[in-house]
Amino acid sequence: MKPMVMIVEDETALVTMLRYNLEKEGFEVCEANDGEEALVQLAERKPDVVLLDWMLPLVSGIEVCRQIRRSPVSRTVPVIMLTARGEEADKVRGLNSGADDYMTKPFSPSELIARVRAVMRRTKPDASAEALTFADVSMDLAAHRVSRNGRAIHLGPTEYRLLRFFLEHPGRVFTREQLLDSVWGHDVYVEPRTVDVHIRRLRKALNGPDEIDIIRTVRSAGYALDDDQQ
Ligand code: CA
Repeated sequence: MKPMVMIVEDETALVTMLRYNLEKEGFEVCEANDGEEALVQLAERKPDVVLLDWMLPLVSGIEVCRQIRRSPVSRTVPVIMLTARGEEADKVRGLNSGADDYMTKPFSPSELIARVRAVMRRTKPDASAEALTFADVSMDLAAHRVSRNGRAIHLGPTEYRLLRFFLEHPGRVFTREQLLDSVWGHDVYVEPRTVDVHIRRLRKALNGPDEIDIIRTVRSAGYALDDDQQ
C-alpha cells in the first residue's frame, strides 16, 4: 500500500505541483482546499503525512493543526506546515500548535520529498516491520502476508485492503459507504452492495471449518471486526 499524503492548500497551482511531485515519488495523494474540508476528510481517513498550509480559508492552518492533535483519530498523524511567512515567531507558533515540521515557501520538490520521508521515519521508525493482529489473525504489512492460526491466507488486493482497514479499527462498526470511502477511495464509484461481495470473499478465505467468523454483520448498519459472537 502506497503511503498517503494529504495536501491542505487553497492555491491550485501549488496543489498541482505538490501532487505531481509526490505521485512521481510513489505517494498516494488526497487534497482538501480549505481547513473545514481537511477536518471532515481527516475524520474518515488516515493519511501518513499532512501538508498543511498556514493561510487557509474558513479555518486557519494553525487551528486545523490543533484540531488534528486533539482528535484521537488523527492525533499521531505527522503534520508539516507550509507557509510564506519566514519569521521565527510564526515557526514557533506552528510547532507549538503540534506541527512536526515547517517549510517556508518557495521550496524545491526534492526538499519537500525529503521532509515528508524524514517525518514518516521519525513517527513510524519501524514501518517495515509492522504487523497488525486481531485474535488469531495476523497481517505482516512488509511481506504482504496474512495468516490465521499459523495457516497462510491468500487474499485478493481488495480483500487485503478491507482486512487491513478492519485490523486498524478493531471493534468499530462501519457502514458500506464508509468502507467504500476508506478502502476503495472517494473518487471511485462502486455500488454499496459490492462491499458485501468482498466481505463474502474475505470470510471465505479467513474462516476455516472450526473457526469463528471474526467479521460481524451489524444488521442495518454494516460490518465490524469482532471475535465476540454471542
Ligand atoms: Ca494559502
